Amino acid sequence: MAITRTQETIIWAVWALLVPAGIYFTYQFFPPVNADILSMLAFVVFTIIISVMPIMISGLPILLIQWVSLAAFLKFGLFFEVVLLQIAIFTYMIRLRVGKSDLYRLPWNSIMFFLMSLSSGMIYFSIGGTVGYTPVESVFFPALIYQVSAILINQVLLVGFHAFLNREIKLFGEDLKWDFSAMLIMFPMGLGLFYLQYQIGPIALFLIGLPFISGAMILRLYNSSEQINQYLQKAVEIGHQLTESLQVNEVLQLFLDKILQTLPVEYAYILDVKGDELVLLRRVENNINKPINLPPLKKNEGISGLVWGTGKSALFHTKSDWTEVVKGYMPEDVESVLSVPIVRNQKVRGVLLLASSKRRAYRKYQLMIVDILCSYLGVAIANARHYETTKRNSEHCALTKLYNYRYFENLLSSEFTAMQTGDRACLSLIMLDIDHFKSVNDSYGHQSGNEILYELARRLETLIGDEGTVARYGGEEFVILLPDTTKEDAFLIAEIVRRTIADRPFILHDNLEAERKTISLKITASIGVAAAPLDADDSMALIRHADRALYTGAKQAGRNRVAEYVKSS
Ligand code: GH3
Ligand code: MG
Ligand code: MG
Repeated sequence: MAITRTQETIIWAVWALLVPAGIYFTYQFFPPVNADILSMLAFVVFTIIISVMPIMISGLPILLIQWVSLAAFLKFGLFFEVVLLQIAIFTYMIRLRVGKSDLYRLPWNSIMFFLMSLSSGMIYFSIGGTVGYTPVESVFFPALIYQVSAILINQVLLVGFHAFLNREIKLFGEDLKWDFSAMLIMFPMGLGLFYLQYQIGPIALFLIGLPFISGAMILRLYNSSEQINQYLQKAVEIGHQLTESLQVNEVLQLFLDKILQTLPVEYAYILDVKGDELVLLRRVENNINKPINLPPLKKNEGISGLVWGTGKSALFHTKSDWTEVVKGYMPEDVESVLSVPIVRNQKVRGVLLLASSKRRAYRKYQLMIVDILCSYLGVAIANARHYETTKRNSEHCALTKLYNYRYFENLLSSEFTAMQTGDRACLSLIMLDIDHFKSVNDSYGHQSGNEILYELARRLETLIGDEGTVARYGGEEFVILLPDTTKEDAFLIAEIVRRTIADRPFILHDNLEAERKTISLKITASIGVAAAPLDADDSMALIRHADRALYTGAKQAGRNRVAEYVKSS
């Protein structure tokens, strides 16, 4: 609900021009009547009490004060009523802890209440309403119209204010219905209070006020258990979504999105335990993903380090609670901090830290909910990591770390489809087989042969880079898939591959000798090249033809050479 700086300045300016002077003139034209200091003081105190403990309905605080102000208006006149409502709104705003970002609500509500008091008061007087004791039959209708007009004026002001902020709300919406239902309680209570205090003085406030305040407290209790229930339900939902996700990044993003939607969070950090350090994994500030370039923390260092060390959650309500503990980075305006360990198998695997610029932004039960979510997160991350490793392993060859045949085959067929649908112009395949590799094994041992395969894989990877994909096709056979590469270009690349192998000896260890001496060994490879759509109509044919070029064109022709597929061969 952000508003622009200009809008905010206008609101403050209107307030400064209107409200103080308005109150002064109200005093001049409608000075208090029946000014009985003790009663007035009782009204002020009672108004503050009610404003500090607003009624909670569906998690939203609602200030029900109009019945007190009605009684005050009828007894002491317009000026006192105006002042009383201003006291109410200021107390209420302080109670709601309006922060820097929504400070404009203070002047805005003050303007609204002032205009509402003033205009409904005028209406009351204009239809013959009077201040001071009068029989109920002569007060009833003017007072009713007074309250109805207050509600309507309030609604019109709201619509106007939202229009000023370029937002739209309905003139006759749910809010209005609610206001009128609330009036059914407040109007009789207000009249009751008005008459009763003529009988028994300020004690009337106590007599009528006590059941009202008790009612508010009961509603509050009911409401907080209701809210915990809602949070729990949400937590379960989020938990299910988290464990369904199979990618670590996706899990983290989903978790943060949900946390930001559910709790008042401006700053969120996920830290990961890596060895003896706590490393930043995610950093969201005011809904923006920020770079994770903050220095790592040691165990018991700073708030997150302590949460890691102790395995216990931490909840801080104000800045002064944590300034002693904090170490390293923390945004300037942070007040409330909530930090929870991410635990799996009884070990802390990470730490979540949430922060807000508001004081007392987090309650104990919210901490419990975050705790539950973090245990889901721990499991979800473990799941996703496990899945990612399994997937990586299933696609790679353990010895050379290159992609394996399974991966290559899928890639080839999807690249072939891409070519057939016109996303790729052509596709070339290089296949190579090391010459006389068996004799390397025989002379220096299988382990030494493996060293060559590993070294060869690195050379191929470095050479090809992002131009194509290198995979281990079989024992000492490798393939290179080159998308959007013509057969001529592929042939030139194959020639470079051949030289990359033949020109520089491989370093290996003689694994048949006890001292494993280092040997430098020259090897060569035979290479076949085929391309699609030129040579092949389907992916298997492309492999077959590269293979054929390799054996007939290169191996049989004397090895250490490149051959391309020729149709007639
Ligand atoms: P050429 O290809 O030049 O005809 O001779 P070659 O000796 O390389 O013959 P061929 O390709 O038929 O033999 C492949 C040999 O590669 C057989 C096997 O000993 C060796 N080999 C296959 N896979 C591995 C492996 O993973 N590690 C090692 N060390 N050797 C392997
Ligand atoms: Mg072979
Ligand atoms: Mg061979």
